[in-house]
Amino acid sequence: MIIDLLLLLLPVAAASGWYAAKRSIDANTHKDNDGFTRPYLVGLNYLLNEQPDKAVDVFIKMLEVDSEMVETHLALGTLFRRRGEADRAIRIHQNLIARPNLSKELRLQALLALGEDYLKAGVLDRAERVLLEFTEIASGEIAIIGLRHLLDIYQQEKRWDLAINIANKLLTHGEPYQRNIAHYYCELALQAKAQSQLEQTQRYLKRALEIEQNCTRASLLQGDIETASGRYKTALQAYQHAVQQDPDYLVEIIPAIVNCYERLLDEDELLRYLTTCLQQYPRTSLAIVIATYLQQKEGEAAAINFLTKHLQQRPSVRGLQKLINLQLNNAKEEIKNDHVILHDLTTKLLKNKPTYRCENCGFNSKVLHWLCPGCHSWGRIKPIQGPEGD
Ligand SMILES: [Zn+2]
Repeated sequence: MIIDLLLLLLPVAAASGWYAAKRSIDANTHKDNDGFTRPYLVGLNYLLNEQPDKAVDVFIKMLEVDSEMVETHLALGTLFRRRGEADRAIRIHQNLIARPNLSKELRLQALLALGEDYLKAGVLDRAERVLLEFTEIASGEIAIIGLRHLLDIYQQEKRWDLAINIANKLLTHGEPYQRNIAHYYCELALQAKAQSQLEQTQRYLKRALEIEQNCTRASLLQGDIETASGRYKTALQAYQHAVQQDPDYLVEIIPAIVNCYERLLDEDELLRYLTTCLQQYPRTSLAIVIATYLQQKEGEAAAINFLTKHLQQRPSVRGLQKLINLQLNNAKEEIKNDHVILHDLTTKLLKNKPTYRCENCGFNSKVLHWLCPGCHSWGRIKPIQGPEGD
């Protein structure tokens, strides 16, 4: 901290020395020719002695004397915030904003910095107020920073309609926030669904798909609404659309699809659908469901034969576990124990493995989060693919 501050204040000390010398030369107009350096030295001394509050007092007083030092104060405030001393940063930035003659550009910088101080301090309502004032007057690149902060606040507070409003403004700046907006509509849909407002729920989901046509989550929710109302054919359309939108989520969607076909008493069509789907997307979750149906309809040998062929092309631990399960049923007593050991081994292999991973930041999880807890991006956590995944 001290080193940082000294580095920051070195140019100030140099500048103030220059000013002092200049003032000494212009003795007629500036009588107090060393009055400029002394307060800084006093301030520095307080910092060196770990008395930052007294240092802040001195620097704030200096600002009243000399407006040339505004940018140094901005930097000093940022340094305090980065050090986790948001209260001191707030004092400095508040003091800057209170200055009536501040230029528009510096006022914007100070407002943004104060908003960031409040965010750091976790005082969201004050951060929101300052950032709203900032975004009213800011334009261009710097406005985008303020809008992103506001979006962060509304996401934390789950105020989805306000988040949509801000994300739409970001869109006008050319920022790609369509995916965010679609998920905000999904969140609103869930709220409406919880209050049994089904028509409103459907409207929100429609909006989600209008803004982001590949929003798998919206199609899944549409399927769930239709299923809950007993409209299984319409539900199937939504779920099958979700598969086309993003087959990486197959493992999430397949149980819902199976449920719909079973409710419609159309297992032959289900098997046809699953087989066609597997040709397009050779995922383990599909192969396991098909193997289960083959076992019921044609017996274990057919299921084992099918799954073995699939695993030869696309090995996976989950597929292997299912295969061992199938073989266990018909295994002779002398080799049954070997199968049990193998089954336990695959269970151990899978036990502590994450099932989902964020494709943006690599965050691992056992449950599906639509909003990544690691990088706060939407819809980037997906079921893991490959031998240890789907
Ligand atoms: Zn992430």
